[in-house]
Amino acid sequence: MYKVNSNYLKLQGNYLFSTIGKKVANFKENNPDKKVILLGIGDVTQPLAPAIIDTLHNAVDEMGHIDTFKGYAPDLGYEFLRNAIAIGDYRSRGVDISIDEVFVSDGINCDVGNIQEIFSVDNKIAICDPVYPVYIDTNVMAGRTGTYDKTMQRWNGVVYMPCTPDNNFVPELPKETPDIIYLCFPNNPTGTTITKDQLQVWVDYANKIKAVIIYDAAYEAYISEDNVPHTIYECEGAKSCAIELKSFSKSAGFTGLRLGYMVVPKDLKCFNVSLNALWARRHGTKYNGAPYIVQRAGETIYSKVGRDQIKKQIDYYKNNAKIILKGLREAGYSVYGGVNAPYIWLKTPNNMNSWEFFYYLLEKANVVGTPGSGFGPMGEGYFRLTAFGTYENTVDAIERIKKL
Ligand SMILES: *Cc1c(COP(=O)(O)O)cnc(C)c1O
Repeated sequence: MYKVNSNYLKLQGNYLFSTIGKKVANFKENNPDKKVILLGIGDVTQPLAPAIIDTLHNAVDEMGHIDTFKGYAPDLGYEFLRNAIAIGDYRSRGVDISIDEVFVSDGINCDVGNIQEIFSVDNKIAICDPVYPVYIDTNVMAGRTGTYDKTMQRWNGVVYMPCTPDNNFVPELPKETPDIIYLCFPNNPTGTTITKDQLQVWVDYANKIKAVIIYDAAYEAYISEDNVPHTIYECEGAKSCAIELKSFSKSAGFTGLRLGYMVVPKDLKCFNVSLNALWARRHGTKYNGAPYIVQRAGETIYSKVGRDQIKKQIDYYKNNAKIILKGLREAGYSVYGGVNAPYIWLKTPNNMNSWEFFYYLLEKANVVGTPGSGFGPMGEGYFRLTAFGTYENTVDAIERIKKL
């Protein structure tokens, strides 16, 4: 008789967004006359930029000709794309990342989940609380988190780092020494970020205790303020302690196309084992890369016309964020984030808990957001709204909230 991986049986609850989806579907069924506005799930709504569509058409045509047809892509990704990334995202910021340190993937959700495979099961992970749920769940699947304490809502094998208004949502160095540290800035869910000096403290700490930082920079494109680092490699010494992930999903609307990359520097060594070599081995064995057509679309983002069109889209979402921030402030809410990220994190009013506020907003304003408690116990009493809706819906939703 076969057995399943018992680690999977330890996973807690349902995936947050399917739970919300079901509750919203249920509300709509019972209230067919109400227009529900979704400002909950972190998915983009604007169509792909015209330059990307052109590239896609051309790349499809290439696949149909004997001279330009492409089969399996190179393991790490096409050189044209890795070159564009190394220049556009790194050299342009004075950071030297070589193209064989860049691993192209079909989005970073699987990278962030899979990178833990190359680390021993007995490594201790440190995560922020609240946190993007994938970091914890993939480590539960790997059997790295110990047992779950239902009362505390904590895994006893995990180092939690609270992020609250008290520390401006930047975690303090943990008391218990971790081996793998997950950081995400600009942050999902809080929409807040870290300064370069603050990130340097983490890099120095990781180098000192010989830990590795997994740095999720999915929202880099939303950074507006000068002192916010665009890549962890702006910090001195980061190449010997940090892996960085970047997605094209939130920056260029690729949530459906699928494209991202991970940087594993060659200086990153565990004793004398190169993590770059391990990941290259893993990538080559289990992964055959993102489609040629999509990698060409990714390259377009680094062209002048692509860059301009993408910037317009990001400005569109950032304007929504501004509307949400301003409206909620006027309505008397305490709000965070929304300046360098498409997420607004708000304190629920009148001591409502996160789910109470979810139902209140759904029933009274027909607006859907995400309960902060779904991202961890420190998210209790908070709520996340996203700037990914349309302008019209965002304005409408905020008007409704102001009238409550
Ligand atoms: C959306 C998101 C991702 C997933 O990105 P994909 O490239 O679409 O897989 C990863 N990390 C964070 C923090 C996200 O919000």
